[in-house]
Amino acid sequence: MRDLATLPKAHLHVHLESTVRADTLRDLADDHGVEVTANTGPFSDFRQFAAHNGLVRDCLRRAEDFTRIAYEFCAEEAAQGTRYAEVTFTAAAHGERLGDPDMPLEAVLSGLAAGQAAHGIECRVIVDHPRKRSVERFADSLRLAVVHPQVVAIGTAGAEDYPLTPFAAVFRAARESGIGLVHHAGETCGAPSVAEAVTVGLADRIGHGFRALDDPGVVALLKDRAVPLEVCPSSNVALGLVESVSSHPLPQLVDAGLIVTLSTDIPSSTGATLTGEYRMVRDTFGFDDDTVASIATNAVDASFAPEDTKVKLRQDIATWRAGS
Ligand SMILES: [Zn+2]
Repeated sequence: MRDLATLPKAHLHVHLESTVRADTLRDLADDHGVEVTANTGPFSDFRQFAAHNGLVRDCLRRAEDFTRIAYEFCAEEAAQGTRYAEVTFTAAAHGERLGDPDMPLEAVLSGLAAGQAAHGIECRVIVDHPRKRSVERFADSLRLAVVHPQVVAIGTAGAEDYPLTPFAAVFRAARESGIGLVHHAGETCGAPSVAEAVTVGLADRIGHGFRALDDPGVVALLKDRAVPLEVCPSSNVALGLVESVSSHPLPQLVDAGLIVTLSTDIPSSTGATLTGEYRMVRDTFGFDDDTVASIATNAVDASFAPEDTKVKLRQDIATWRAGS
């Protein structure tokens, strides 16, 4: 069994706001005079998760706050053997909240630039948008993506029962601008939400998507269009969507021939790490190193990384697999 810490990994589904270190959150709370009433560490139910999100939001106010968490994200990821990460950030929401549409994203990009240089990791950004928020704000997210080359995709998150049709013009505009589309679906809602993300949302990838298994037609759609899934077992269990890791449908997704990748989604809320996620699925499902290496390679292939980065990472995963 090879060391999973040294497996070269691409991390595709991780929300920057859910990567903030507990110490950092306390520092920022002190700076802003925010009372820390919520848990700052791993939580045990959805209510704590929501409270934690609210606290993080309240502590992110200045450009330096965003820059710091982005820099520290790079350090945490590099320590996990992550070589390439696409970090999700709700840029337009922070911009609207703080009355400065560009500052939060620009501050994050500045922290990522410094973090990448210091920690030898490559990062890109996905700007996400809660479905219940306005189409105009989603269009703002696309504008941010178009003017910042480090932003590789936009996508929708939040209430999956809220329809994607109102955003259709933005999806088409993103596609025409060469901006990727990545939607949360099949996490809280069923297989039809996954089909909608592919057909209406023009999804290049699906965040979660595990409920696609409920409908063979949706499995076939994902396979026909080669749409990868970002599977996040620790998050699904922590949010009560799957009862336990051992009952997680990840092996069935692999067996169905779907393109499965592994991510942490909300690591500061669950205590998960990317290496830990690979270790957990290997230990729980008895995956051999070939299967683990193929999941890691899927993530590279499914990423929006530059082609030379993909070539290098595929080679390095093959070297890891060939080693002892
Ligand atoms: Zn997510």
